[in-house]
Amino acid sequence: MVKSPGAEIRRYLAPVDTLTTQQFFTDCLVIGSGVAGLRAAIEAAAVGTVTLVSKGSIDQSNTWDAQGGIAAVLDSQDSFDKHIADTLATGAGLCDRQVVSQVIRQAPELIGELISWGTEFDRVNGVIDATFEGGHSFARVIHSHGDSTGRGIAEGLLKKLRSCPTIRTLEHFFVIDLLTGADQECCGAIGWQAGGTFQIIWAARTILATGGAGRLYRETTNPENATADGLAMAYRAGAVLRDLEFMQFHPTTLYIAGASRALITETLRGEGAILRDKDGYAFMKDYHSDGELAPRDVVSRAIVDHMHKTGATHVYLDIRHFDKEHFQKRFPFISELCDSFDIDVSKDMIPVRPSAHYMVGGIKVDSEGATNIANLYACGEAASTGLHGANRLGSNSLLEGLVYGRIAGQSAARGIDRSRPHRQHSAIEFSVPQSNRSRLDTEDVRNSLRALMWRNVGISRQESLLVETQEIIRFWQRYVMDKVFHSPAGWECQNMLTVAWLMARSAELRRESRGVHYRADFPAADDVHFLKHIEVSCAD
Ligand SMILES: Cc1cc2nc3c(=O)[nH]c(=O)nc-3n(C[C@H](O)[C@H](O)[C@H](O)COP(=O)(O)OP(=O)(O)OC[C@H]3O[C@@H](n4cnc5c(N)ncnc54)[C@H](O)[C@@H]3O)c2cc1C
Repeated sequence: MVKSPGAEIRRYLAPVDTLTTQQFFTDCLVIGSGVAGLRAAIEAAAVGTVTLVSKGSIDQSNTWDAQGGIAAVLDSQDSFDKHIADTLATGAGLCDRQVVSQVIRQAPELIGELISWGTEFDRVNGVIDATFEGGHSFARVIHSHGDSTGRGIAEGLLKKLRSCPTIRTLEHFFVIDLLTGADQECCGAIGWQAGGTFQIIWAARTILATGGAGRLYRETTNPENATADGLAMAYRAGAVLRDLEFMQFHPTTLYIAGASRALITETLRGEGAILRDKDGYAFMKDYHSDGELAPRDVVSRAIVDHMHKTGATHVYLDIRHFDKEHFQKRFPFISELCDSFDIDVSKDMIPVRPSAHYMVGGIKVDSEGATNIANLYACGEAASTGLHGANRLGSNSLLEGLVYGRIAGQSAARGIDRSRPHRQHSAIEFSVPQSNRSRLDTEDVRNSLRALMWRNVGISRQESLLVETQEIIRFWQRYVMDKVFHSPAGWECQNMLTVAWLMARSAELRRESRGVHYRADFPAADDVHFLKHIEVSCAD
């Protein structure tokens, strides 16, 4: 178990005084409005009152941006066993077989439920259309609104959520920390409502569904909210985190100076797009026999290697052979994106390169979605369930969010007794010493951190740079972590520093290459020493 050096970690980022702060009670607090949080809230609402909070508007999440699809066995020619085998193969020895089986077998039921709540999956002649993605041995990735699958799923979940009278939603509510009482049980959270008031939400059960950590990297597909807040607050509260060295890089994001790193979905390669270098050479078969459909980590590394070999800053995705009309209908988001940069896909190739995409590790939970802290659950990208192992199979994450959202919601609801009055919590008081010893530009720290993580804890890693990264982060922590901030930008910066250090340390400790974690100094897998998880906790 890895422990971060104590000096820079304090229990709460902001002062807490439960006697004077504005407060209310709820049976279940759900933090996050992505697929996992929405699904969890719907489940818990069957038993008690639920408060669902999101730090931005309800539709700002990785979920809303998800493009390609969700994996599910719906065709009689396909089988659960094949989907399980594909997931295990991609996970490189670290998947939990029972969890993989549990998640994959629940997919058809949960897809059916989504359809009944209003999600529209794309169909051909009335049959749900499915496509291939890298690592899948069968075309089982179904999609909605062409390449806006996350939005399609969230719309169905939101419709259902809005029909649940016991759910209250609070947008623009930034959760700063989880509250734990003297018995170390989670009893809710302290947050900040946009406009400037601190607020305590006491909760019998709390579910963390705060999503990923892509914004720790300069190059990322993730929207601004993915700053690893949930991982950091769970860590401060004493939760066990694991597999933080496994950050998945997406091979193909749009590379145009000044443009956001929009994802160019993998399904394009599934449907025949070819990766070429600046001379038009299709290089993928030189790196893997599956070519464009090799697993993501292989394609990302191949692109980076090829960029080094050819001295290029990017490569190209070639879809000039696609039927343009079909492309516009099937991939409306990417079609519009290319148009907006004057890329005519029938004549021009799309400039792409890899960027940070998906946090495979997270808060360790059991098969009930429970963390090691009583009354605290986690689901979705923030959680580490054991489904992905050392690498995530494409389109398995929306599925995991649905399945574990439901499980966490059910587990949290169990034991809530509406007939009993809310438990009185003992007062919590935590004062944070004010420190003004240095003036701080948090935006500058964030940018420097993101550049550092991209350079040193990116697609290819090595010991000396990982150690150097930890030293640099510790130095920054010395003057950032002692501050008391009064807005999300500061708390996010503190959270990012905490999780970045843990990621660099975990990556240093895994002296082998496995899944998405590639060590240039240890390029092979080492099953003797590393067929295990690396766990981190600040608790004694
Ligand atoms: C561009 C893109 C494309 C993708 N495409 C696919 C795909 O095709 N198929 C697939 O399976 N997966 C895809 N993924 C991955 C997938 O979208 C995510 O893994 C999944 O949506 C995560 O869902 P979630 O509910 O765990 O978190 P999210 O959807 O990220 O939601 C996190 C929520 O937590 C809230 N939150 C965070 N911190 C705080 C805080 N401090 N206080 C209050 N609220 C907070 C946010 O406001 C947000 O509501 C894609 C991801 C990206 C970025």
